[in-house]
Amino acid sequence: MKKEFNPQKNEIRRRSVLTGAAGLLGLGAARLAAPKMAVGAVSPQAGTPAKRPAAKEIIKITKLETFLVKPRWLFLKVHTSAGIMGLGEPITEGRAKTCAEAVKEVEPYLVGKDPRAVAHHWQAIYRHAFYRGGPILTSALSGIDQALWDIKGKALDVPVYELLGGPTRQRIRVYSHARTPEGIKQARAQGFTAFKTGPAKYKNRFSRIVDNKAYIDNVAVQFAALREAAGPEGDIGIDFHGAVPPQTAKLMIKVLEPYQPFFVEEPVNCQNVEAMADIARGTHLPIATGERIFTKWGFREILEKGAATILQPDLCHAGGITEVRLIAGMAEAYYAAMAPHNPLGPISLAAGLQIAASIPNFLCQEQVSMGDGYIKNPFKVKDGYVDLPTGPGLGIELDENAMADKIGHDWRNQESYDADDGSVVDW
Ligand SMILES: [Mg+2]
Repeated sequence: MKKEFNPQKNEIRRRSVLTGAAGLLGLGAARLAAPKMAVGAVSPQAGTPAKRPAAKEIIKITKLETFLVKPRWLFLKVHTSAGIMGLGEPITEGRAKTCAEAVKEVEPYLVGKDPRAVAHHWQAIYRHAFYRGGPILTSALSGIDQALWDIKGKALDVPVYELLGGPTRQRIRVYSHARTPEGIKQARAQGFTAFKTGPAKYKNRFSRIVDNKAYIDNVAVQFAALREAAGPEGDIGIDFHGAVPPQTAKLMIKVLEPYQPFFVEEPVNCQNVEAMADIARGTHLPIATGERIFTKWGFREILEKGAATILQPDLCHAGGITEVRLIAGMAEAYYAAMAPHNPLGPISLAAGLQIAASIPNFLCQEQVSMGDGYIKNPFKVKDGYVDLPTGPGLGIELDENAMADKIGHDWRNQESYDADDGSVVDW
């Protein structure tokens, strides 16, 4: 039976709690004092059930706001009655508008609730949806989760990793994309020591189901050139992007082995985990996967079947900070490492850095933007690492002025076809 909620009664209970706790809260209480006035706007359907974890101060979610950000991102601001705003990236690439609608559908649940019960809201949003998981719903949940952690950290004036038992390290390794020897040299000049590339295309075509010797040999020759540019101490991952059929993937991996890639990412699509596990058993190279796998339930099968030893959950897809922290714990028990996927924006990167600083089995963090033009104080890489963030919450602040010309986009996934017969191929 559904419990009736009396917002007035709840208001009285919370105000009395605030009065008793305020003297102990120092700066945090001072920051949260103002919102008392705004709390009256809570609607009955958005109220807090009586048995929810109790909070010591009044702070309630007032609004969720998304906006499209170039080149293909979706940023989320979760506003609160405390004047604290949390940031997240609730995005599946190519489905930004769909994700924005998914966030909008969650908004009525969150408005009026205390944002700091992050794990509780995760459970409610995920499980009350009945139809669980998948890229859209889990990406919406991921961005919301990031924003709630950001709020919680800001309310307590500590980085998120402090709330997760960190820091577990003093600096965080990041890698850059580089497809050519010149790209490796440029990335090294910027301070990177770890890189990622894709298998070279021969005659600029996608790989066939069973590709020929010329194609396979070219993969080895091109990777050897990258290895020479990076040197034996450089780490170069290679991402098959789930676009190589398993027959050809095995041929490619065999010729790559002498050059010791950092890892082989998505050697095949992850829809058939057993197929990836079969490839993993056939090579000593570490297999990495995870950008298209969602929640602990998705990663459970990867670990149990031995399909990968490097997990790459995306902080914006897999379930946010709450869930990726749990996935890292599952991975630890299999001696698997974490290298979160991130082709997205600086909020995603900031969330990944908080995870890196919270777990023992972190390998390297992907990034495509250190935040220049999007955040105040963009991240800086030195000797392959970025410094541990020290700001509260996710530790970043949007640079709204710099972002003014980056609002709005209509990015679409590419279409790819076989060069010989025009059939659809993966990319
Ligand atoms: Mg990838």
